[in-house]
Amino acid sequence: MAKKQFKAESKRLLEMMINSIYTQREIFLRELISNASDAIDKIYYKALADDNLVFDKDNYYVKITADQANRTLVISDTGIGMTKDELENNLGIIAKSGSLAFKKENEAKDGHNIIGQFGVGFYSAFMVADEITVISKPLGSDEAFKWESKGADGYTIEPAEKAAVGTEITLKIKPNTEDDNYDEFLEQYRLKAIVKKYSDFIRYPIKMDITGKRPKEGEENEFEDYTEEQTVNSMIPIWRKNKSELKSEDYENFYQEKRYGFDKPLKHIHVSADGAVVYNAILFIPENTPFDYYTKEYEKGLELYANGVLIMNKCADLLPDYFSFVKGMVDSEDLSLNISREMLQHDRQLTLIAKNIKSKIKSGLQSLLKDEREKYETFYKAFGRQLKFGVYSDYGANKDLLQDLLLFTSSREKKLVTLDEYVSGMPEEQKFIYYATGESIERIEKLPQTEMVADKGYEILYFTDDIDEFAIKMLMSYKEKEFKSVSSGDLGIDSEDKPSEAEENEYKELFEQMKTILADKVKNVKASKRLKTHPVCLSAEGELSIEMEKVLKAMPG
Ligand code: ADP
Ligand code: MG
Repeated sequence: MAKKQFKAESKRLLEMMINSIYTQREIFLRELISNASDAIDKIYYKALADDNLVFDKDNYYVKITADQANRTLVISDTGIGMTKDELENNLGIIAKSGSLAFKKENEAKDGHNIIGQFGVGFYSAFMVADEITVISKPLGSDEAFKWESKGADGYTIEPAEKAAVGTEITLKIKPNTEDDNYDEFLEQYRLKAIVKKYSDFIRYPIKMDITGKRPKEGEENEFEDYTEEQTVNSMIPIWRKNKSELKSEDYENFYQEKRYGFDKPLKHIHVSADGAVVYNAILFIPENTPFDYYTKEYEKGLELYANGVLIMNKCADLLPDYFSFVKGMVDSEDLSLNISREMLQHDRQLTLIAKNIKSKIKSGLQSLLKDEREKYETFYKAFGRQLKFGVYSDYGANKDLLQDLLLFTSSREKKLVTLDEYVSGMPEEQKFIYYATGESIERIEKLPQTEMVADKGYEILYFTDDIDEFAIKMLMSYKEKEFKSVSSGDLGIDSEDKPSEAEENEYKELFEQMKTILADKVKNVKASKRLKTHPVCLSAEGELSIEMEKVLKAMPG
């Protein structure tokens, strides 16, 4: 029988993938188990819609069997199985995900818990196996097929025998080399530990035959081996577990398992609320800005579960825009399973949960700022702009919530400071919080306008982001100190710094002439004492700073 070639791009991808996507080999097991769990979910969702199909929980499980003598590891499931075409399409083309297609088809109907979507997980098995055999019998068919491949050079498909519906994947585990040990993937205890680590909360039993020793009956000091089938995973979702039982690793695994991002989260927030509204939530502050974050394509939202069953992938109502970077999930017993999207918007419980979550995120960020400053600054570099948008939007309605989360570069040591830090460092006589706007720190430092304020020994906040000054205008003041641009006409620094009348008059004629020549460029020309080493500078007369006027002029409309 002719061996089929992987599609060309698949071949290259496969090699790349095997060597680079995953850094830890052991995750192949997580991927195969997720696929098996997805396959069982598919039957579960079919049964929801089809009265002729009964989903009896006891019949659905994943089984892992290692055979050291033959160097095989078998992962079998009682899931929906694959037809010949599906074997060909889903396993023959890398980056093609049958699960994603299934999700899309079923989006309108019930929710789903299906994890797969990238179409690469299966191939991770080639990190540990030099040959993979998949025998599958799809639901509603009497025919089974066998797919077999030794990696990059292709695969074969042929008819096979299989009694029960489902899929059986046999990995021929690679021989050990000088540098790499593969034997571990044939050892019960090692396998059991990997399952616990990555797949503990998979909702179906993951079974293994575990051998142990027990005293031999009737004979003293004699022991015998016995084998017993055990369910290895606890099946309790991580969010239902006690915080004290969980390590940060568990949360990181969950983040990766759920594909919330490819980065490592900076912080997790685990909420178990049982007050006015009962819910569990696991929220993450990511480390990196998603590539589409500041575009219209980015969709905010948290996964929403009603009593353990996923009802919505991205529930936007749970997150305010200024916290749109947060990833995670919420599970509540108080929500009804068949609640529609429209109903959700008006659901009182959901509104309460959203409000509660907002304050949890806020205090989570505050504690990150307080206790792990470096991490907070990493976060702020990725998402600070969004917080500033938050201050600016809704006419500053969120300023109390957000103002203490803001950071700006300070003229002192060019470090990021909070407004509180700025105000605490102000000398007694300083009346305003000074800021200067510009494209970059280097540019701002060259501004003649900063001289006078800096000379006084006052700290200046450097605004290099367009949104900075707009946000600050919404705040108006912080701890009763108003913000003042260093380019504003009146700096509010002691009056003796104003030129005397005699000084004003001395160059009156020159100023008048300058005004005539610059008629359409400036409003006024006058003497000033704010400059030290520069002969002249521009300053703003009204509410808007020069930089802000520039931004407004550049805006369309
Ligand atoms: P993903 O899970 O991201 O879709 P995978 O490479 O892990 O990508 O799997 C590719 C596809 O193969 C899945 O989407 C699914 O359609 C199919 N598949 C893999 N394993 C199984 C299985 N055990 N039972 C049924 N279908 C499976
Ligand atoms: Mg998968």
